[in-house]
Amino acid sequence: MPLTKAESARLARRTGMAVEKFTWKNEQGILTLLNDDKTRACVFLLTDSSDTNAEGMCSVYDARPKGCKTYPYVLSKDDAAILDDGCPHKEQFPPPSDDDAATLLNLEERILRESQDD
Ligand code: SF4
Repeated sequence: MPLTKAESARLARRTGMAVEKFTWKNEQGILTLLNDDKTRACVFLLTDSSDTNAEGMCSVYDARPKGCKTYPYVLSKDDAAILDDGCPHKEQFPPPSDDDAATLLNLEERILRESQDD
């Protein structure tokens, strides 16, 4: 999950962890939440299983990044909001709106700008 620097700072304050302990920079230089080696899920997901359908709880729910709040809405290649195919619960969500697309585009723009500033 990509996140902004402000979101990573908030998570660091919330958890007491150094930002480097729960993020990495992907090939495009974008700050991204790390996955746990064992569960292959986000390091903040409380689960013992690597099964994507397994139960799990976010341990930083109140401080989770905006991308987590808007998930399973994601941007398609042509910048439309779509439901992520990888989400096992996507049928439970209504179709994304134009507002969802605008929110996701604003977030993406901010994250890309930050990655270019480094
Ligand atoms: S909602 Fe929580 S557990 Fe899920 S990706 Fe976001 S921070 Fe990680």
